[in-house]
Amino acid sequence: MTQKLFSELGLSDVLLKAIDRLGYEKAAPIQGEAIPLILAGHDVIGQSQTGSGKTAAFAIPAVEKIDPQIRKVQVLILCPTRELAVQVAEEVYKLSVFKRGVHSVPIYGGQSYDRQIRALKQGAQIVVGTPGRILDHLSRGTLALTNVQMVVLDESDEMLDMGFRDDIEEVLRSIPKGRQFICFSATMSAPIMELIHKQSAHPRVVKIEHKILTVPSVEQAYYEIRGRSKTEALTRLIDLYDLKLGMIFCNTKRMVDELAEELVARGYSADRIHGGMSQTQREKVMSRFRSSAIEFLVATDVAARGIDVENVEVVFNYDLPWDEEDYVHRIGRTGRAGRPGRAMSLIVGREIYKLQGIERYTRTKIPRRQVPSLEQVEEKRTNLFFERIRTALQNGNFPTETPIVDRLLAQGFSATDIACALVHELRKDDALRRDSPLTDRREDHKDSRPAQRRPRDRGSKRTRS
Ligand code: ADP
Ligand code: MG
Repeated sequence: MTQKLFSELGLSDVLLKAIDRLGYEKAAPIQGEAIPLILAGHDVIGQSQTGSGKTAAFAIPAVEKIDPQIRKVQVLILCPTRELAVQVAEEVYKLSVFKRGVHSVPIYGGQSYDRQIRALKQGAQIVVGTPGRILDHLSRGTLALTNVQMVVLDESDEMLDMGFRDDIEEVLRSIPKGRQFICFSATMSAPIMELIHKQSAHPRVVKIEHKILTVPSVEQAYYEIRGRSKTEALTRLIDLYDLKLGMIFCNTKRMVDELAEELVARGYSADRIHGGMSQTQREKVMSRFRSSAIEFLVATDVAARGIDVENVEVVFNYDLPWDEEDYVHRIGRTGRAGRPGRAMSLIVGREIYKLQGIERYTRTKIPRRQVPSLEQVEEKRTNLFFERIRTALQNGNFPTETPIVDRLLAQGFSATDIACALVHELRKDDALRRDSPLTDRREDHKDSRPAQRRPRDRGSKRTRS
């Protein structure tokens, strides 16, 4: 992994703080390459696949370059659709929270002109919009682009596919010469190249090539999560497959913290590791994980770099990494030394595109599986429990327990009742845990932060069936 840290890219503290708050640990490859070039004032053409972090690659330097004293549009970002414009505007907003006096506004069709006009009048410096609505504002005289220093075409392949070429060129004509020209796209077709060459004499090209990667022989699967929480799906899978040692990867420090807490609250033995923790803290967690004192380690990629623990049964991708190489590194944590291993990815919405990217670059087909129902989980655990008892009966090595049973019989309890009571007591912890969080309880325990490091007695925390 050759990814850079954001702190290596020449960004100001206010931007680094905002990035840290977004939870990004390291720069995506496209970000690491493009940000310094854009900061240096070059025209930049950036190409990398969907889901690889292109938005922040231009939004970070765009916010960085704004002069908050000047209350005029300094950056124009063109997006193909209203949804994308809103998404990009949100990212721009989050990146500028600590930079005082920087304002951005999304401008798209379907929303009232009034609100947009008000924001423009108030001196927004960053406009994120769709070409059609931008043109409307230009012709109404409610938007002036004469101070624009940087223009960004985001998802240019889509914009051209949607027939925005003339609109884009018209918008670009109302921006004075000398502006910085930035263009991002997942693919580079001839029409895009043509448009670029008309707009920029010597653009720097940043293209993130994807190596074909060899995946370790691990049983991979993905689960499309619809309408329920990822955590619920995660715990059902853990229960169904009776998993006892695993790593769970998230993309951000914040998600790692949240998930570790959530798992502990649900009765699992889990802890976390991420770049926001001190070296000592991390080592402590690692040694506990190595000695199986914790069952599940929730981690970010950076923190988990180089971690090699034997017997890891499963790797979960709670979030899919945007970098295929990270995916391969992640799943390589299991199935070591010829042991079987599983890799399970939880997919929501747009993550399916990332998954397809991973399939492409690893040349593997990752099968889709159903998230098990509660009934399936219950049935499976009952069967496991049944087998455990049956095996114990067959082996017959429990004579030391005879005195207890004799005493109970002497009290007049029937053998059947005694057996039932024992089964019930044995399965109580298990049932308790399963009864509580049938739905997404994230809201419920947001404020009651569960103890992260409460001492856990491995014997009693879960019924081993
Ligand atoms: P693209 O435009 O290339 O399709 P996006 O900019 O929409 O990709 O980013 C995809 C996802 O990756 C977003 O959810 C974003 O928050 C996340 N992301 C972007 N950069 C980073 C980073 N450096 N670290 C972690 N997550 C990131
Ligand atoms: Mg994008």
